[in-house]
Amino acid sequence: MRAAVVRKPGSPLSIEARALPRARGQEVVVRVRGAGVCHTDLELAADEEREGASVLGHEIAGEADGIGPVLVYPAWGCGRCAYCRAGDEQLCPRSEFAGFGRDGGFAEHVLVPSRRHLFPLGGLDPVRAAVLADAGLTAYRAVRRVRSALRDGGTAIVIGAGGLGQFALQYLRLRTRVKSVVAVDSAPEKRARALDLGADEALAPRRGLPAARAVLDFVGSDSTLRAGAQALEPGGAFVLVGAAGGTLGFGLETVPADATFLSSISGSLGDLAAVLEHARRGDLDWHVETLPLDRVNDALARLRRGDVLGRLVLTP
Ligand SMILES: [Zn+2]
Ligand SMILES: [Zn+2]
Repeated sequence: MRAAVVRKPGSPLSIEARALPRARGQEVVVRVRGAGVCHTDLELAADEEREGASVLGHEIAGEADGIGPVLVYPAWGCGRCAYCRAGDEQLCPRSEFAGFGRDGGFAEHVLVPSRRHLFPLGGLDPVRAAVLADAGLTAYRAVRRVRSALRDGGTAIVIGAGGLGQFALQYLRLRTRVKSVVAVDSAPEKRARALDLGADEALAPRRGLPAARAVLDFVGSDSTLRAGAQALEPGGAFVLVGAAGGTLGFGLETVPADATFLSSISGSLGDLAAVLEHARRGDLDWHVETLPLDRVNDALARLRRGDVLGRLVLTP
């Protein structure tokens, strides 16, 4: 099979022929129909110290042997610890994420550890649905985690209105009692898109932010963390999702009184089931552009430039 392989950190991925994976025990082989390209893939492709998978891709949908069209849950836990028994495999200390610890979906086939990581698509198009496995899932959990801060209404700020942010805007309306949603993005077309998806306001990052009960940061740079923390009201909740590597000083003088600061990665098996339910009911709208797997380096270059509206999905 063909796969896009990381040969050397910082260098273009190389398209190579690899042996077809063979399933043993609980494992299932999935023929990839779509694999989304995430900002995290940029970090992984450049990371000199990284060990583990040489095939990236954690947003995968395809056809599973003996099952049919499926969405692949990307956080592959041990299945036995307390986190895994609660469905929180993304928190399992032994979790190996698709495209991180084990080979992922930038290939024609991917080996998935267990059937419990596969969710039947129920009629959704696999190419479009692929992005639900990370962008859809991670944004869902992030919104869920700030939900209680919005129980009396209030404003929520979504920083970064790209792949994940586009979902967060919609979940805020679907799953919380938020009164006003403000999107922040440097790209004018993403701001326009955010307004289409239900944001009340869309601002460029340099503008002052309104006071908010909840801030969801899908960028995670020093400047977005600082701007978001400054906008947060006392008693509010800030959730950090973006992997830009920024930090924020933590102290009574530097954050609002009684504020809650959370990090959030991926989501649970239950979160993914809820996301799929919303998608099947037609509650969600999201933008996908496809590129053939062979053009993976073009996809990464465009993402690096910020030249992607929504999500790019590779099709083998
Ligand atoms: Zn991702
Ligand atoms: Zn576990």
